Amino acid sequence: MFSKRLKELSSKGLLRRIKDRSSSQGSTIIIDGKRLINFSSNDYLGLCSNHRIKEAVLHAVTVFGTGAGASRLLSGGIELHQRLEKLIADFKGTASALLLNSGYAANTGSIPALSDKDTAIFSDELNHASIIDGCRLSRGNINIYRHRDMDDLMRLMKRKGRERAIIVTDSVFSMNGDIAPLVDLRDIALRHGALLYIDDAHGTGVLGSGKGALEHFGLVPEPFIIQMGTLSKAIGSYGAFIAASADITGFLINTSRSFIYSTALPPHTVAASIEALRIIEMEPQRIQRLWNNREILIHGLHSIGIDIGPSETPIIPVLLKDNDSSLNLSDFLFRHGIYALAIRQPTVSTPRIRLTVTAGHTGEDIHALIRALTEARNCRLL
Ligand SMILES: *Cc1c(COP(=O)(O)O)cnc(C)c1O
Repeated sequence: MFSKRLKELSSKGLLRRIKDRSSSQGSTIIIDGKRLINFSSNDYLGLCSNHRIKEAVLHAVTVFGTGAGASRLLSGGIELHQRLEKLIADFKGTASALLLNSGYAANTGSIPALSDKDTAIFSDELNHASIIDGCRLSRGNINIYRHRDMDDLMRLMKRKGRERAIIVTDSVFSMNGDIAPLVDLRDIALRHGALLYIDDAHGTGVLGSGKGALEHFGLVPEPFIIQMGTLSKAIGSYGAFIAASADITGFLINTSRSFIYSTALPPHTVAASIEALRIIEMEPQRIQRLWNNREILIHGLHSIGIDIGPSETPIIPVLLKDNDSSLNLSDFLFRHGIYALAIRQPTVSTPRIRLTVTAGHTGEDIHALIRALTEARNCRLL
């Protein structure tokens, strides 16, 4: 039965395949012995293979060993977990922060913990799958509002009864690269006494001076705002956090199932995140380079008439008419030394090549991409 289903997926151009590297993550990678310029990573600041971070990791392994060996509430936690939480709280400007094992675990653990059957959840229709799953695991009443549509959100909020409310949104939407209207969302949350839960996976280390989406909008942390972020993207490590009031993190320690029933992050990933946060604060030029590279890429795409849709960030979609076109273009780019993967239905409604530009790209890398896209267009692939 499953082989038949796999064949069906394959015939629709929907089969997903794992492509493993034989090099470290970075602006160029090696796959199947072939060196490729990589426009499909979330390693925005090039920290996945940073020398100083590697040394911090080696030191942590020497002192604390490899695995955590237990959940945080048993013997899995070490001083490094606490130090990282303090650093994140300071970085994000919150009273407290709690480490979780991944962005997926953070959303699927925290959203159900923060909402009971008397909670109305309001979720943007383009929120990340981990938020969707977190909502589904919760006992709350789920309301999906149209993407970034505040009128639709207010219309839905008016219909709610006496339930508590929580508004959940990506800060940067991971497939479009556009940014949620957080000033309006904050005002609406405040007016309705709602919590505002922001998934800052692609904002942390990218927006503002790296502190994320609130800073980008000139907003400050407040007790009703919960900032979730990942350590797996710009931070170049692994894991996630909730930065919020001490009441919220304290409550999550007691109720979030993905926190309680899972082994703590291993020492070396925690050490890597600590060093990465230091580097982000000490080397602001990395974020500068990221945004300069984005400018260069956007300029190049405009010059050859490619529409970047709603993108406002280093995530830049090249929209295509169907799944096959997106696969064909991705294959063409691969043959021309560019790694840029197709994102298909059902992950997105409009198939696309999702480009992510990073601080590690050179001007020449970006021009190579533009040249390849120009050729693809001459071959009528887009
Ligand atoms: C990547 C991502 C996650 C999941 O984070 P992981 O640490 O990779 O599990 C959650 N939310 C958003 C918006 C993401 O882009």
